[in-house]
Amino acid sequence: MAIIKTKGLIIRENPYNDTDKMLTILTENLGKVSVSARNSRKGGSRSSYGTQVLTYGEYVLFRGKDFYFLNGCDVITNFYDLSSDIETFTYAAHMIDMAEDACIDSSSAEQVLILLLHGLNALRKKRNPLLISSIFALKLTHIIGYPPYVSSCVSCNTREMEEISFSFDKCGFVCEKCAKGDSQSIKIGNGVAKAILYVLCTDSGGVYNFNLSEENLKIFSKITLKYIEQRMEKQYKKLEFLNEL
Ligand SMILES: [Zn+2]
Repeated sequence: MAIIKTKGLIIRENPYNDTDKMLTILTENLGKVSVSARNSRKGGSRSSYGTQVLTYGEYVLFRGKDFYFLNGCDVITNFYDLSSDIETFTYAAHMIDMAEDACIDSSSAEQVLILLLHGLNALRKKRNPLLISSIFALKLTHIIGYPPYVSSCVSCNTREMEEISFSFDKCGFVCEKCAKGDSQSIKIGNGVAKAILYVLCTDSGGVYNFNLSEENLKIFSKITLKYIEQRMEKQYKKLEFLNEL
C-alpha cells in the first residue's frame, strides 16, 4: 500500500468508533483530507501523539477507499497555547472555518495552509486578533480568485478618486460620484484603502505586517467579513459568541 508523507495542520478532530478519531488535516500537497487515527482516543497512548487540533506536523498516511489512515507523525509545532485565551481561540476557530471553505482544490489548500500558519503565529505573538482574522479573510478571497477590484473605480474606471468607497454590489472601490447611487457602499478613507491594497499586493509571509487605528480597523473588519461572506455565500457566526461574553 502506498505511503504518503505530507506536512499539514489538524483543523478538526471528531470521535470515531470507541477508540478512534477522524481528523481533518489541511495538507501541503493533498488538499484538505479526512484521516482516521486508530486508537488515538486512548489517553497517553502512542497513537494519540500529534492528533490534536492545532497540531502542525509531518504526517505519514496511507490511502483507504474513502479516507486516509494515519500511520505516524512528527510534530513540528502546535498552537495549543492559543486555547488559553477564549477571545484569541475564538478568532482562531473563525479563521479555521474560513480556511476550510477556501480549500477548493489542492493548490489553493497549500496557499491557505501557509497563510493560516502565519496568521496563527501572529495570534501567538498577541497581535490584535480582529486585525489578523480580517487580513486573513481578505487574503483568502485573493487566493480563491475573487479579490475585490481596487485598481480604479469599478463603475466608471476613473483613477482620480478624492473619496474612496467600497461597493459590495460592484465588488471593489468606487469613486464619490458612483458611490452616490450605491446605497450598500461604505466610505473607507485612505487608511483602509491602503490596507486593502497592501493585503492584496503582499505575499503570505508579510501580509500581517501592519497596524490600523481603532477607527480604521472597525471599517476594515466590517468590509472584509461582509466581503468574504458574500463570496462564500455563507455567514460566519463564531465571532458572535464574543458579544455574549
Ligand atoms: Zn466612479
